[in-house]
Amino acid sequence: MSDLTRLTAAELASRLATGEVSSVEATRAHLDRIAAVDGDVHAFLHVSDHALDVAADIDRRRAEGEVLGDLAGVPLAIKDVLVTTDMPSTSGSKILEGFLSPYDATVVARARAAGLIPLGKTNMDEFAMGSSTEHSAYGPTHNPWDLTRIPGGSGGGSAAAVAAFEAPLALGSDTGGSIRQPAHVTGTVGMKPTYGAVSRFGAIALASSLDQVGPVSRTVLDSALLHDVIGGHDPHDATSLTDTWPSFAVAAREGARGAGLKGLKVGVIRELPDSGFQAGVSASFRAALALLEAQGAEIVEVSAPHFEYGVAAYYLILPAEASSNLAKFDSVRFGMRVDVPGGTVEDVMAATRDAGFGDEVKRRIILGTYALSAGYYDAYYGSAQKVRTLIQRDFDAAFAQVDVIATPSAPTTAFTLGEKIDDPLQMYLNDVTTIPVNLAGVPGISIPSGLAEEDGLPVGIQFIAPAREDARLYRVGAAAEALLVDSWGGPLLDRAPLLGGNR
Ligand code: GLN
Repeated sequence: MSDLTRLTAAELASRLATGEVSSVEATRAHLDRIAAVDGDVHAFLHVSDHALDVAADIDRRRAEGEVLGDLAGVPLAIKDVLVTTDMPSTSGSKILEGFLSPYDATVVARARAAGLIPLGKTNMDEFAMGSSTEHSAYGPTHNPWDLTRIPGGSGGGSAAAVAAFEAPLALGSDTGGSIRQPAHVTGTVGMKPTYGAVSRFGAIALASSLDQVGPVSRTVLDSALLHDVIGGHDPHDATSLTDTWPSFAVAAREGARGAGLKGLKVGVIRELPDSGFQAGVSASFRAALALLEAQGAEIVEVSAPHFEYGVAAYYLILPAEASSNLAKFDSVRFGMRVDVPGGTVEDVMAATRDAGFGDEVKRRIILGTYALSAGYYDAYYGSAQKVRTLIQRDFDAAFAQVDVIATPSAPTTAFTLGEKIDDPLQMYLNDVTTIPVNLAGVPGISIPSGLAEEDGLPVGIQFIAPAREDARLYRVGAAAEALLVDSWGGPLLDRAPLLGGNR
């Protein structure tokens, strides 16, 4: 194949392993692609100026006979929430403009050690607050399927980079849907692992009890391969699980061969309100379920009565944790400082935070500070924590009956840039099916389920598994993906009218 950017990470890795392709060639192809299309897409905030040197080093080591990891030489895009020593890390905020970290996030260090080639840092809503990337201080990312539409958020840059063939793989973070909802609206795959399965060390914290780092890719196998690299215990993260994990790539390959669907019990949530779901999203969801059923899966209705309160509970818990996490941006230790001649330390702090934070960040800091304040703590934060427990119990009860739960990954396809920016509640409701997964700490994966009839835009189906059953999601996800791709006669993205043509 002449165009290396069209290969999946697994395909590229096997050509690199045989020596048919060099990492320098693969990296150059992706840098060229970025140069050609990122002016329109704006997936990247920073493109590495030494990716080719890193690639050359991998090629040299391979030539010397060194045994390298499965993904060695494969380019990788990195969400700007993850700190890196060799590229600025802003988390989409002005307050961190130009910030260079003294250390790499653990997932970045592991990716480097495995020989992946960091291509650059991807755009995101400021501090990962949003569902559209419109809250980035550096301008929005555009959906490659239709440049007038949002690429999802907060990790819209990572998803758009992968969908636009600017990178075969990307890292994201997911606090309430930021990997899965962008995957849904861009026709890509996004996985939020079990809470604690992947290190959060060096992921600029939004809400520490909800944040998880995970992969974004064009196939389930590619996500599994990247998860194998980044996952596992990290002593630098106090919430990191000490489990020994199976190979997720093996699970995905088993799934792709059709293992695991016969007799699989797939739960659908009775109480999931049908209203609010775009007709084409519901139709695509039902069609995907029918395909699974035809292959021997059993669709079982389960009850999760508290699922629908997830968004309300989340918007107390998240702002509370975020207001505390963001207190460290105090004009002294990190990033920008606005001088106030003759002013006190507090004046400088206030002026810096006023100039450095965008409206959505301020909104959530105010909300969180209020929810945590004396006299309101029990009524707001305390109640939200109780709802969180009820949602966890709903999942426990459901998983006593089924192997996985399926939902549409989000209620609508990609909306138009600007459409919801002035209506925070509508923006928040886009995460109605992803947020409960973070509240329960369980894993969830979004894979493309098709195109919505009314607008021709991608739709995703989300599978949810019990905590620690990430491998089950890769097996089921790959099995469903194989069926769906077969039914379309090829991957959706290969036939997408990307960037107004097939370029
Ligand atoms: N869209 C959600 C929010 O605005 C989720 C963000 C995320 O997962 N980081 O909080």
